[in-house]
Amino acid sequence: FETVTPDKIKEMEPHLTETFAGGLFMSDPVSVADPGAVGKAYGDLFVKRGGAVLRGEARTLSQTTGGFEVLGEDGVISGRECVVCLGPWSDDVVRKLGFWIPLGVKRGYHMHYSAKGNATLNRPLLDTDNGYVLTPMSKGLRITTGAEFALRDVAPTPVQLDKVEPAARKLFPLDTRVETEPWLGRRPCLPDMLPAIGPIPGIKGLWANFGHHHLGFTLGPVTGRLVAEMMTGGNAFTDPAPYRPDRFA
Ligand SMILES: Cc1cc2nc3c(=O)[nH]c(=O)nc-3n(C[C@H](O)[C@H](O)[C@H](O)COP(=O)(O)OP(=O)(O)OC[C@H]3O[C@@H](n4cnc5c(N)ncnc54)[C@H](O)[C@@H]3O)c2cc1C
Repeated sequence: FETVTPDKIKEMEPHLTETFAGGLFMSDPVSVADPGAVGKAYGDLFVKRGGAVLRGEARTLSQTTGGFEVLGEDGVISGRECVVCLGPWSDDVVRKLGFWIPLGVKRGYHMHYSAKGNATLNRPLLDTDNGYVLTPMSKGLRITTGAEFALRDVAPTPVQLDKVEPAARKLFPLDTRVETEPWLGRRPCLPDMLPAIGPIPGIKGLWANFGHHHLGFTLGPVTGRLVAEMMTGGNAFTDPAPYRPDRFA
């Protein structure tokens, strides 16, 4: 990173309304304005290359003599092997099949805002004093909160968003909220903050690829590659040992 002066900040982000002592500029990180569109593009590419996308209820997964079965929207789907990659809901499925793993969540919220007048923000901005990120997205300017420690399924309590919004409004001319309710996301976390990747012991043909905590959007493609290489018996590009699903047993 490089340190930037208040004048440089003004030059880089002319619509910021706060006066800063200075800032840190990180040139490496990349961001996307529509993560959902990226996920969809990966899905479309998968289909284009011969894959099929079928929807179903993963909690119906059961073992059969030849592998696994799950109830799909259009009937039973069966397969020899199965990868559980349901993020924070993964333990619902593996627990039912007899495998315990201490998966928890760190919840988080975001909300989009319109900008007043012609104000624009050119890059994501992390306000470390107040603990939120303000970033330009397709749907508007997004405020993302920090982590909330709460059970996965309890009702939303977006107090962090309410707390940081006034700070963000001082920083940038935000106008109205775009959505009526904040988005609530659940970051799937294991105690050592590493994902679980690999065969699930004791259940032949069942694989794990979950627990990507704060970085699942970034890590998904590379952990997908790792589990695919392990399943097909190829040379894994990295040592999968640190991610063994049974490391907490
Ligand atoms: C506020 C916030 C900000 C974040 N920011 C970033 C970031 O900047 N960069 C980054 O890399 N990561 C970020 N993350 C983390 C990232 O979102 C997660 O790590 C990632 O989504 C995990 O991916 P996943 O595919 O494992 O699970 P998910 O994306 O949660 O997908 C799980 C899927 O399983 C489906 N499902 C659940 N139960 C069932 C069932 N019974 N049957 C069928 N389907 C089911 C769900 O509908 C969902 O589609 C953020 C998370 C939050 C909450």
